[in-house]
Amino acid sequence: MTTTSSNPRTVSDTDAFWLREAERLDWTKAPTSASDVSWDASDLHIRWFADGALNASVQCLDRHLETRGDKTAILWVGDEPGVAKAITYAEAHEEVCRMASVLKARGVTRGDRVILYMPMVPEAAYAMLACARLGAVHSVVFGGFSPEALASRIEDCGATAVVTADEGRRGGKAIVLKKNVDAALTRNDAGRAVHTVLTVKVTGGEAAMQAGRDVWWHEEKAEASSDCPAEAVDAEDPLFILYTSGSTGKPKGVLHTTGGYMVYASYTHEKVFDLKEDDVYWCAADVGWITGHSYIVYGPLANGATTLMYEGVPTWPDASRMWKIVEEHGVTLLYTAPTAIRALMREGDAPVEKHDRSSLRVLGSVGEPINPEAWRWYHDVVGEGRCTVVDTWWQTETGGILISPLPGDPMTKPGAATKPMPGIEPALVDADGKVLEGEAEGNLVLTRSWPGQMRTVWGDHERFVQTYFTTYPGTYFTGDGARRDADGDYWITGRVDDVLNISGHRMGTAEVESALVAHDAVAEAAVVGFPHDLKGQGLWCYVILRAGLEPSAEIEKALRDQVRTEIGPVATPDVIQIAPGLPKTRSGKIMRRILRKIAEGAPDQLGDTSTLAEPEVVDQLVEGAARHR
Ligand code: ATP
Ligand code: MG
Repeated sequence: MTTTSSNPRTVSDTDAFWLREAERLDWTKAPTSASDVSWDASDLHIRWFADGALNASVQCLDRHLETRGDKTAILWVGDEPGVAKAITYAEAHEEVCRMASVLKARGVTRGDRVILYMPMVPEAAYAMLACARLGAVHSVVFGGFSPEALASRIEDCGATAVVTADEGRRGGKAIVLKKNVDAALTRNDAGRAVHTVLTVKVTGGEAAMQAGRDVWWHEEKAEASSDCPAEAVDAEDPLFILYTSGSTGKPKGVLHTTGGYMVYASYTHEKVFDLKEDDVYWCAADVGWITGHSYIVYGPLANGATTLMYEGVPTWPDASRMWKIVEEHGVTLLYTAPTAIRALMREGDAPVEKHDRSSLRVLGSVGEPINPEAWRWYHDVVGEGRCTVVDTWWQTETGGILISPLPGDPMTKPGAATKPMPGIEPALVDADGKVLEGEAEGNLVLTRSWPGQMRTVWGDHERFVQTYFTTYPGTYFTGDGARRDADGDYWITGRVDDVLNISGHRMGTAEVESALVAHDAVAEAAVVGFPHDLKGQGLWCYVILRAGLEPSAEIEKALRDQVRTEIGPVATPDVIQIAPGLPKTRSGKIMRRILRKIAEGAPDQLGDTSTLAEPEVVDQLVEGAARHR
């Protein structure tokens, strides 16, 4: 298959390129070949560096001990202002070895699955690396998920051990964890195979311990050996399973393996953030998401960086918390999500300007399309016009960033993910799978594998094949749409399922939402289509106003006009529903499929809502929608 060659980052011999990049790791046995891949549905396999052997925890810790033993590996910042702790590489290594020793003594071995249900404390990273050290496969479940969501993941991956905490702390509140684990383990079959629940004491809150099964980390740790040799595993041994956000339906158990994933996480983290030895790097995601895996733990630690890990939320105790952390710790590289940027933008510039941000150099965004308005605020206000903004497009499935600006590129396109990383080959195809050349808009696919690509859906290889490789045979289908401009730069237009078709005009939700967010009165917007007798689809816009504004007929009219002028009369909103909040996944992504059902008047068909952050919002929206019908 041919691809557009307007990309100046093109690599001519990709296998040779990746084999060279593999040298960034310390392999126990260096690989002699790069890819062994077939995307043919009848024989689908993806292998990278297949004859290599290594250990991920060695990449992240042991190999830095000689030169960076006293360097801060994890700079932990507590929920409570003023609480922080710097953990050196030597200290992190010792903690990880002890935790691995504990798990090993309890019977965890290579290939076993271990669920991590943790708050944002250093022990979450230790647990990931301890599993990796033994060749066990971790599956991190976000600490805000319910016992049901936890139970279904424990069952799905067949875990034999769980690492958790008594409670977590977020935004001044205690988050129950151990109790949820206990509840999850009594559900259906979830508890049958679990022999160990290793519990970290974080708050000192209530935790019932079941004799034989449950052990305290602080007690076990004292006895455990700090000498725990790392298991050299094959490059294709599983490193972790991570369930996707569930924006489009039932979460998928994405499997990543060791060699390719580690090469890709390290490579992208270094290049996208232009990492320097003295950087203080802060990715404000949770370890429960892929961003936390690749860009709080594996990428930065593989690169010997100082990675800041924040226990709390961006808006607590107030809207200046993030900037206070930046000032206090001299953060140079910051990586966060549009949902956080929009929430903070809503509070105005004063909370940002209160703090010195002169240390900042690169500002990253991930998770959703970033509206140009939010991009400009991030660039102009947060970064004082001085910093590079990198809008990074990728997925749980891709292991790391695939399309992103690189520091040094001209920063002239707010909202564009711009170009594929060297070694990455995207293409746009139309509904029939025909490759579109030059300036075009279509379905975003990848035409060649890369080391960080997921290997399968855990326990359901057929779902893997069906979901990603049968829509446009010979390519990996991302499920996202994109536009490529005359310079060859990519603009992600949103999920293909969300594309609107108004009187025969196709448009991405992102475009209409950005037009709304560009209005001063709007903090956030989500747009969906609903059945319309004349136009085929009408435009239903859910809008959240900026702090302090009340809904009015004037605002509604102004917003209609805004979209008409920004995009054109064809995009005139049919309904503007001013809303108190939007349904989001726990990682902060707008769940448009739920909004679509509400707009269609079918709130009884919402589908899988297990990853919804605030279920109450849905009822309020259903009520509000009724008034517009
Ligand atoms: P599920 O696959 O279960 O529905 P999800 O797609 O939200 O959930 P993730 O892997 O967390 O799960 O998110 C990846 C998706 O997030 C991408 O496919 C894309 O739609 C969106 N996304 C991520 N980064 C960007 C970005 N920079 N610009 C636009 N969209 C982005
Ligand atoms: Mg997805």
